[in-house]
Formats: sequence, C-alpha cells, structure tokens
Amino acid sequence: MTHMADIPLAAKPIDRAAHYRLDAAWQRAALTSPETLFFLMREGEPLMNAAGGLVWLGPHALKLSPIEGPLFLGVDKTGTPIFALDMSARFQLEGAPIDGLGEFVDARHAFGALRALEANLASTARSLFEWHRHHGFCARCGAKSVSVEAGWKRQCEACRGEHFPRTDPVAIMLAVKGDRCLLGRQASWPKGFYSCLAGFVEPGETVEQAAARELEEEAGIQADWQSARYLFGQPWPFPSSLMVGVILQAETEEITIDAKEIEEAKWFSRSEVQSILEGQHPVIYAPPEMAIAHHIMKVWAYEDPGSEA
Ligand SMILES: [Zn+2]
Repeated sequence: MTHMADIPLAAKPIDRAAHYRLDAAWQRAALTSPETLFFLMREGEPLMNAAGGLVWLGPHALKLSPIEGPLFLGVDKTGTPIFALDMSARFQLEGAPIDGLGEFVDARHAFGALRALEANLASTARSLFEWHRHHGFCARCGAKSVSVEAGWKRQCEACRGEHFPRTDPVAIMLAVKGDRCLLGRQASWPKGFYSCLAGFVEPGETVEQAAARELEEEAGIQADWQSARYLFGQPWPFPSSLMVGVILQAETEEITIDAKEIEEAKWFSRSEVQSILEGQHPVIYAPPEMAIAHHIMKVWAYEDPGSEA
C-alpha cells in the first residue's frame, strides 16, 4: 500500500527547527562547531560521493566562498545542525581543498539515488537556492535584497520589504472513469512516455478546482471538481513546485486535446496501467518511482481508491 510518508523527496523530512533561524547566537555557535554538517550545491546540483551519498563537510566548508550565507535546513535526530552552501557556477572542484571527495551530480539523477533524508535535504536546498539566485532585488522597489533568517527570507536594504520563498502548487491528477484512467503526453517527452495530466493552481481556486479545469482545458474531459480525492503531495524542486496528487471522476469520455499543452491523451485500462508500471507494456512506459505520477497511477491500478462512484 502506498503511504504518503513514502513518496520520494517528501519522505523522512528533517526537523526544521525553525526557531533557530532567528537565533543569531545559536547560529554563530553552530557555524563554528566541529559537529555541524554542511553539504554543497552548485547550480542546483548536489556534491555526491562515489557511494551515492552527499559529501558531508565540517565548518571549514564556509571557507570555500559560497554565494551567500549558509542555508539552515534543520537538526537531525541527534540534534546535529545541517546547513547547505550554494557555490557559484565558477566554483571548480579541481584545485579546491575538497577535490577528490565527490562530484556535482545532475539533480534528477541525484534525487533518485540519494537516500530519503538526503534527497529531502538536497531538493529543499535546490528550491531555496534557485529562489535566492533569482530574487536578488526587491520586487517592491528594485533595490538589492539580502538573505536573512538563515536563508529563509530576503530583506530589502532600502525599503525593508520582506520576501519569502515561493512554493507553487500544481494539481496532478488521474482522471478515472469506471475501469479506465486518462494519461497524456507532451510533445517534448520521449516516445512512449505517458503520465498524469497536471497544471498550476491559479489564484482564487482550490486544488480540486484546478484539477478539473486543467482536465477540461487539456483533454476536453469534464469532471465535477467535488469528486477530486487527495492522495498525497510531493515537493518538486524544478524549481519550486508542490505537486498535489488527486484522483477525480470523469463524467465524459470524448477527448479533445489542447495541442499547445499536450500532444496526446488516451484512456487506459487498469490492466494496461499495471503492465506499464511493471515495465511489461510493449510500447508505453510510465514516470519513474521518483515522480509522484508513478505513485498516483500505482494507487489506482492496485488499490482502486476511485471506485466510490
Ligand atoms: Zn525594497
């Protein structure tokens, strides 16, 4: 049975210990303690060792000149503080004191390989650092802003405006009707790859309403948004989405795609989806286990939560 605590990138979240973000004395002590752990990111990619884990460093990592101050991610089960450092694109491992400890690894590959806690930490850092890199100036007055509260806020030096990191909710839905579900594909995806439909929640609507609207816009299928049932969520750091997985009951079957959004949408039987998930389908394949879509499809294919209609 798929449990919300098992969804990749969401599993094993750290204790964020947010009260320390405002505690300058605690941070000063933590940043000099030999117990404190640091890991590096560069352009959204974590530094990983040959064994497939994060490279853990001590406070000497601060001497590597990260872009801004360290990002405090929380404390682990033993109370050890954990920070991430964002290195500039110019930072080269070759010749650095940490040369030989690991390599910066493509984020999608890394998050699929890291163990749950490390994947959660690195994906959180990726989202936050991406936000910092693109919010160097105040959205109110245009002056320079600086990272404060251990990396969880930016403050404008001119108007004192406060800016907080974004998380953009995305409704990712499996529309079902009887023993079939709807999957679609975008033109840019690899041949044979199908997934759940998805779209950003807009201001003024709920996740359920967004799911039903996107379904109609992209595939021409109507559904009562009140039939949407929440399954689980997943933070998705590309760059900063919150995927909200729902199953909703389709009321119509005729597909009319919006070619600007998707290339194709098709109904699949439960047994077809099972064979797709098991890698047995001759031509169609599904998102990998790291993606929430995989788990939404799996829940429906094997646990049938949408059969209340
Ligand atoms: Zn300002």
